[in-house]
Amino acid sequence: MSEWFKADKKAKARFAGPAEAGLPIPTRIMSNGEYSPLPQTESQRRVEGALWEIADQLAPRFGLSRRAFLRSSMGMAAAFAALNSVFGPAYAMAQDELSDGDAGADWAQRHADQFIFDGHLHFVHDEYQWPGILGFRNAARMMQADGIPQRAPDFEDVKFLNFVKEVYFDSDTTVGIVSTATSDDPGRRFLTNEQIARDVARLNSAAGSRRLMGHAAFHPGIDGWRDALDEAIEVHRPISWKGYTVGDPLSPQSVAPWRLDDEELVYPAYERMVEAGITNVCIHKGLMPADYATRMPDLWPYATVDDVGQAAQDWPQLNFIIYHAALRPVVMFDPGFVQSFEETGRMEWASELAEIPARYGVSNVYADVGTSFGQGAITQPRLAAALMSILARGLGADRVLWGSDAVWWGSPQWQIEAFRRIEVDEDLQNRFGLPPLGTSDGELKTRILGLNSAEIYGFSAEERTVAHYRDDRLSQHKSAYLDSEGEPSNAYHGFIEDAD
Ligand SMILES: [Zn+2]
Repeated sequence: MSEWFKADKKAKARFAGPAEAGLPIPTRIMSNGEYSPLPQTESQRRVEGALWEIADQLAPRFGLSRRAFLRSSMGMAAAFAALNSVFGPAYAMAQDELSDGDAGADWAQRHADQFIFDGHLHFVHDEYQWPGILGFRNAARMMQADGIPQRAPDFEDVKFLNFVKEVYFDSDTTVGIVSTATSDDPGRRFLTNEQIARDVARLNSAAGSRRLMGHAAFHPGIDGWRDALDEAIEVHRPISWKGYTVGDPLSPQSVAPWRLDDEELVYPAYERMVEAGITNVCIHKGLMPADYATRMPDLWPYATVDDVGQAAQDWPQLNFIIYHAALRPVVMFDPGFVQSFEETGRMEWASELAEIPARYGVSNVYADVGTSFGQGAITQPRLAAALMSILARGLGADRVLWGSDAVWWGSPQWQIEAFRRIEVDEDLQNRFGLPPLGTSDGELKTRILGLNSAEIYGFSAEERTVAHYRDDRLSQHKSAYLDSEGEPSNAYHGFIEDAD
């Protein structure tokens, strides 16, 4: 065992603790930026009911407890069967997947060589104390029928060690980038640029290969921001940049929002980035709680993609990677949003993003799909599939990048599985000219899940294969973990105790 793993008692307990039960997918989701969860929707309640029903039926057939069944690959498959039963057949199921204990192993084997590059990961530093952050995980908790106690999320859930466990041990993720957020209140920042650099080095030295890369945040207009940019370039050497044009995403107030196409303020910073050879610029857009439009009308326009096209045109040396695909709402099940999509085939502001290459004649605009795909996958699979198709059609098949926003949503495995299985409804393909996403190991999905990011981050041909990492120390630990404790934790949310 590597040093950080062995040295930390809490880590040991976390990795080797008693089996934790949970559903394989979240069946509840948060509503807004202040993280007050909405009551579970009727559809989500039905998904959960269907899933328990399948588990009750099938678990005894395989001599498994309900809990063991839900933690198995059949449990994951059952979750997609439950989603299909409520929303219609959005998810492909392998033949006999729910009735043949070996089918799950075959499915896993089929994807064992699929390289997964998650460009959108999070954890918080060890002294982090802003409780608002736990709202994310609270929101993704399994809300059970009355009377089943759950463990509330705690800060350990969103710190480094649990991040390592949930991302690398409990999912198929091969490599990733850890991000952070700018905030007017330094106490709310997830990680400083220095902490990112330190934890990236810590993981990679334990792993014995480059499994994690890091962002450096930049925040034009706040005191000392140019010095911070210089320090990042000289000392921390991030793989890419992260900025929030709304300024502070964690507060409805923000002292310093900014625009990507602000020539006076921001273009000199782009100049520095180009000189430094760090040319991927990741920008949070969209994902705005509905009431921000009225509560903060001045800030709201900074979350749109109005400033992307001009900046991309003026800076062909840079890639602009728009996080969350600029999808406007935090949740897709907003009835107005669904209705507008069904009528027009468009999704605010993701469609605007997808149209930028045609409007501005640029080829340096990308979409990250963090949270936007995941929340849609469990609340509106039909729209989640369409979102991916809209992006691939407009930006190009090589300009849509995988991101999960883990660990906010727990282990990213359910999102990976959802994307492998999802397809655009034929009716939508025909009505709106949306291209299909194809099979789980087909070209488009394989590109989106990993090869597109490998390309823009300059990975060698070997570095973009799973084989390259198969013998590193992280892989060795993972095999030992899977052999001994044996089961992923489904630990993206609170835990259900005594589920049996
Ligand atoms: Zn994020």
